Amino acid sequence: MAVELYAYTCGFVTIPYGFLLQGMKGRLTVPVPAYLIVHEKGRALFDSGLNLESQTDPLGYFGEDGLKYNTFHFLPGEEVSARLTATGIAPEDVDIVINSHLHYDHSGGNAQAPNAQVLVQSREWAHAKATADQNLGYLAKDFDTGQKLRLVDGEHDVFGDGSVVCLPTYGHTPGHQSLRVQTELGGEFILCGDACYLKKTLEDLHLPGVIADQAAAMAVLHRFREMQARGSKIMFGHDPDFWKTVPQAPVRLG
Ligand SMILES: [Zn+2]
Repeated sequence: MAVELYAYTCGFVTIPYGFLLQGMKGRLTVPVPAYLIVHEKGRALFDSGLNLESQTDPLGYFGEDGLKYNTFHFLPGEEVSARLTATGIAPEDVDIVINSHLHYDHSGGNAQAPNAQVLVQSREWAHAKATADQNLGYLAKDFDTGQKLRLVDGEHDVFGDGSVVCLPTYGHTPGHQSLRVQTELGGEFILCGDACYLKKTLEDLHLPGVIADQAAAMAVLHRFREMQARGSKIMFGHDPDFWKTVPQAPVRLG
């Protein structure tokens, strides 16, 4: 099975460094990634980047309080739909959006894939619905966009042949998942999402400042280390230095 994997940078956000690594001061500007997986049974996105409204009207989208913690650097052409179009994929032809979790910088672009099924862990969906619009992480206008839902529990084989598998990596949020992708070109990739923000997170086992379950998040980092030792390529979720080395679509990552 030839699976193709592509990476897209869908803008950047500047956020407090302490959100990414507990105890750090200052701010860090980090990439907002999305991935395209092309399989003979369908096209899948892993995460969808930011909401278009954060590009056209950041104040209306996020409010004054939100903008104290988050500055959007998100230009026309950087949204996931434009990135797809620029590489020859119509956003309407995306079959599945797999969300690592439903925070704004991972699900904000879901509406840009209007015909896709949305694949998320049941417990993440339940948590997002229960807390939507009560904090800045979960906004109903990002994730509650009306597509058909595919709610799963734990490990889930997306296309039924073991090439693209959701891995439960709870901790950052109650229902976070990462994605294991087997490619012929580049071997096995682990798309971490927010389960491992930075290379340093894994090297130093340094957890973020904002986290739902510390023990679960630490157990996930140990699992990632084991996978890395076996040769898997770990795709850190928001590492600005690492991300500069990641080939962008239309160049294949794997
Ligand atoms: Zn998150």
